[in-house]
Amino acid sequence: MSEIKLVFEEPKQRKKAPQHLADLTPEERRAKAIELGLPAFRANQIATHYFTHFSDDPETWTDIPATMRPLVAEHFMPKLITLVKSVDCDNGKTRKDLWKLHDGVMVESVIMRYKDRTTVCISSQAGCGMNCPFCATGQAGLTRNLTAGEITAQIVAAAKACNDGEIGEDPTRLSNVVFMGMGEPLANYNPVIRTVRNIISPNPDGLGIGARSVTVSTVGLVPGIEKLMKEDIQVTLAISLHTPDDELRDTLVPINSRWKVKEVLMAADAYSDNTGRRYSVEYAMIRDINDQAWRADLLGRLLKNRDAHVNLIPLNPTPGSKWTASRKKDEMEFVKILEDYGVTVTVRDTRGREIDGACGQLAAAEKV
Ligand code: SF4
Repeated sequence: MSEIKLVFEEPKQRKKAPQHLADLTPEERRAKAIELGLPAFRANQIATHYFTHFSDDPETWTDIPATMRPLVAEHFMPKLITLVKSVDCDNGKTRKDLWKLHDGVMVESVIMRYKDRTTVCISSQAGCGMNCPFCATGQAGLTRNLTAGEITAQIVAAAKACNDGEIGEDPTRLSNVVFMGMGEPLANYNPVIRTVRNIISPNPDGLGIGARSVTVSTVGLVPGIEKLMKEDIQVTLAISLHTPDDELRDTLVPINSRWKVKEVLMAADAYSDNTGRRYSVEYAMIRDINDQAWRADLLGRLLKNRDAHVNLIPLNPTPGSKWTASRKKDEMEFVKILEDYGVTVTVRDTRGREIDGACGQLAAAEKV
């Protein structure tokens, strides 16, 4: 049990990130404006600049009196993330950004433009305490939780990049957000939920992206899934299962020693029943570790009557790791077995593979 307790301990106290508009609810934003001696409507103006026009520089906001702008900048728009490096591939349609936070901690986000949507994959923690052995982020441990301001800033930056025509050949709209970068989102619950509300609230309070276009992934923190269910927001839940049997999962996803496969799936079923949303099961295909036909069979039996969709993700190996992606023939057999059970399956494309697309790899490389 001691290991599990550790996972939920707040990492070492660091200087807190300054409070940002995105850390506050719309009511708190207005209350803060009044506290600063500004009329409440200024909070809406600030939110419009940030969430609708993706601007974070009050000096350029001509509808705010020039004398007021320094106060607004200090109390609502402190600079939370600074771009260190961007790497792109797929003709500019995939871009990974490495960000430095106020205390020097690095996190990353990835923007992926597809035919029908543009998605940003964001980090909710710096590092991760879940310790999955095949994951670069997991190897470094948890540095700290991100604030809602820091998570939201990655999304607003992505929305701006899309709007400015930096992703692909022409401007586009950021349409989807997935919490699948560094960190376990449900281990940083309140900032993640504040961020989700920033994403789905209509302008001016938020970005106005539909809840159904937001995916929150988890390794299976059952109390977190239950709490999320009660929020009454229809975000898609993704369960990072990676194997259907507890014996291997205890090793691949160590938190499994606390919440077993069946408990996690039951919590996901309840989430699906309550929200009417099909959930997804994420499965990193690791050669000769979890990609055997008998495991596909076990997974098929587990999922055949559930409202779940399987995403198989060819493992993007971390440098120096003994783990690697499955052989194509094993992957194809795995898909076929699942489909024979009537389970819907997608093999995720390996966007960003050549730019160290797996979570944590760019940040890890930068530290070397
Ligand atoms: S796979 Fe996800 S949950 Fe596991 S260590 Fe990596 S970031 Fe954390």
